[in-house]
Amino acid sequence: MPKYKHIFFDLDRTLWDFEKNSVETLKEIFFKYKLDEKIESPEVFINKYKEINEKLWAKYRTGEIKKEFLRNQRFLLTLQHFGINDSSLAEKFGTDYIEISPTKTILFPNTIETLKYLSKKYTLHIITNGFKEVQFVKLKNNKLDKYFDKVITSETVGYQKPNAKIFQHSLSTSNAKKEESLMIGDDLNTDILGARNFGMNQVFFNTINTKHNEKVTHEITDLKELTELL
Ligand SMILES: [Mg+2]
Repeated sequence: MPKYKHIFFDLDRTLWDFEKNSVETLKEIFFKYKLDEKIESPEVFINKYKEINEKLWAKYRTGEIKKEFLRNQRFLLTLQHFGINDSSLAEKFGTDYIEISPTKTILFPNTIETLKYLSKKYTLHIITNGFKEVQFVKLKNNKLDKYFDKVITSETVGYQKPNAKIFQHSLSTSNAKKEESLMIGDDLNTDILGARNFGMNQVFFNTINTKHNEKVTHEITDLKELTELL
């Protein structure tokens, strides 16, 4: 086992339960604007939203669309799907979503215990592809900020995971060496293969048991496994 000094965590879907927090937020806004009078259920609305959001995120990742466009279009297109052609409502929905979702505090099981344990032995950092103004609010509201030394966002660096440049930047900012660093994340492509191709060891947090044939350094299904591993 290499002698690790620095541990880099992904945030969304690794520590912060993005799916659950997102559903809570969307439901809250759904009822705030009385969409239940027009759409059969929040679940139907949310499923459609997810589908549209994923497509737009794919375009955002390749640089085809900008952040602001993504933020408004995902709600406009969803509302339009249900026959509600209201761009001002879409805009309000988009603004509320960005404001409310980072205040949600559902974390994966054993997040705090694991971070407490690890922070005594290692220096911890975050590398996230999320939006910077949202990610910092999340960390604060979830009382996670105190565990992390550096928080690196793709927006600030100008490159997203899996691009090697964001990993390189993260090491330089943290004064960390590749061989004493470990990347932990839920996304096989961005976090794990990104880190592996860059030359860093990785822990794949595979909560949904994704089948794959990739060689990863470690694979876990619960964060508390890290306290045995590290
Ligand atoms: Mg993630």
